[in-house]
Amino acid sequence: MDSSEQAVRAAAAEAWALMRAIGELTREGEGITRAAFGAGEQVAAEQVAAFIRAKGLALETDAFGNMHVLLPGQQPELPAIAAGSHLDSVPQGGNFDGLAGVVAALAVLVAVRDSGARPRRSLRAIILRGEESPWFGTAYIGSRLMLGRSTMAEIGGLVRFDSGQTLAQHLAGLGFADAARQSRPVFGPRDLAAFFELHIEQGPLLEGQGIPIGVATGLRGNVRFPEARCFGEYGHASAVPRAHRRDAVVALSELVLAFDAFWAGRVAQGDDNFVYTVGKVATDPAQHAMTKVPGEVRFSFNFGATVEATLTEARALLERSVREIEQRRGVRFELGTEVGTPPVAVDEALMGMIEASAAAHGLGSLRLPTVGHDTAMFALSGIPAAMVMVRNAHGSHNPRESMEEADFTAGVITLAGAMERAANAG
Ligand SMILES: [Zn+2]
Repeated sequence: MDSSEQAVRAAAAEAWALMRAIGELTREGEGITRAAFGAGEQVAAEQVAAFIRAKGLALETDAFGNMHVLLPGQQPELPAIAAGSHLDSVPQGGNFDGLAGVVAALAVLVAVRDSGARPRRSLRAIILRGEESPWFGTAYIGSRLMLGRSTMAEIGGLVRFDSGQTLAQHLAGLGFADAARQSRPVFGPRDLAAFFELHIEQGPLLEGQGIPIGVATGLRGNVRFPEARCFGEYGHASAVPRAHRRDAVVALSELVLAFDAFWAGRVAQGDDNFVYTVGKVATDPAQHAMTKVPGEVRFSFNFGATVEATLTEARALLERSVREIEQRRGVRFELGTEVGTPPVAVDEALMGMIEASAAAHGLGSLRLPTVGHDTAMFALSGIPAAMVMVRNAHGSHNPRESMEEADFTAGVITLAGAMERAANAG
């Protein structure tokens, strides 16, 4: 073990202890609750700020309550290499989603400082607020405001579901009454040459394959129809012959299976970028009966991919399938309003640095797609970005979310090596 890995291990141990302490302070019953721009998130912010000061690092806070730490490089005029994640959690979530990436970024800065290394570019830790969407009905609030992708005029009036107060009121309550006056982005591509986010995987792949580190290949975008319907005709379950039926449930089932076959085909080709879910299905309780042919079914339809071309293909499949099923079964689909987000590409060069860093420390890594994170806001702002995923059991957004300390340490070691590579690269 070289001296710098020793410094990273020591800092990772302190970061782990900080994360555990914040978890205890923000536990509510079974789970962890750190409300966006609210009490739990503020507790975490105060603990993190105290850690930063105790480590002798300079803390800055922007107009939206995001926190920043700068470790100047040999050429501080160059765009910096940043890492970070978010402080908030979903209601009754786990301790690691977001917070692991926050304390990992701090650990890297502490370790680089303590090891005496002085990379060419400056390093930054960026500690974000308000990433989780349940609170204000929209995600990435802290990073969006910080990067100028949304303004307070646009989103300051959003109301938090539990408090009934607006985002502007919550910010003012935390002492950030001037948020609306911040007229330009805090950071842009001229300030940051790279953004890395360490994050728990939230899925079963790393755990299943016994690999501690994942390298995100892209952030899935999605196409969603929250309120779709299929209309058929109600009829007598025992009396209407098959050829005369306009069965809405059978029609929907065909659509569901057509998409499942499309997905299976992708997987068979070794392509893991597509996902698809029909999470809500309901016949009308006022009209349905075991003895009636169903005349209507409501459903949600939701597919995602890291590549736009796959979403385009899936959309074409949806249109084709709907037309065919309508003709064959005498039903009518109304998909309703389409909502969604575009997929976001991560930076290939940074992905390579993450893989090289893991390999240099004897750590296995696996390329895998991931979902939306703050990283998306950086990438969409023209800042090259990539993600280090850390193995975790039991998924995420639930109290059973878990992480082994050894895996966290492996993640910090990987992140540190990737940031130093980026900081010293041409
Ligand atoms: Zn997260």
